[in-house]
Amino acid sequence: MDDCVFCKIVKGEIPSEKVYEDSEILAFKDINPIAPVHILVIPKTHIKSLVEFNDDELLAKMFKVIKQIAKDQNIEESGYRVVTNIGENGGQAVKHLHFHVIGGRKLETR
Ligand code: 5GP
Ligand code: ZN
Repeated sequence: MDDCVFCKIVKGEIPSEKVYEDSEILAFKDINPIAPVHILVIPKTHIKSLVEFNDDELLAKMFKVIKQIAKDQNIEESGYRVVTNIGENGGQAVKHLHFHVIGGRKLETR
């Protein structure tokens, strides 16, 4: 999608600090991290949110990547959080499906 920030990151039109890439998936550091480790994992194809996402195989691959990133970033043992915000009430700012991988400090519970 032309006006989507994450599509622009996929196309290299906006720079990003990539931590993982394959033909279908890209992971890069969040520009405004809320923890020492804050990575976004996205499908390269523009999909709005989890609601529109029906590719079970790709979903499984994304979670495999998430697990590998946690290992690579050394947060597997200390623990981390995986979050996807959906729509208005979910507080989704960027309308391109992404999983936040957040760790490296003790995260708030409510
Ligand atoms: P959301 O609120 O949609 O779940 O999260 C969007 C995330 O994307 C935010 O954490 C925000 O900091 C991040 N973000 C927005 N624009 C950019 C960008 O241009 N580059 C990177 N690396 N992250 C971005
Ligand atoms: Zn997009």
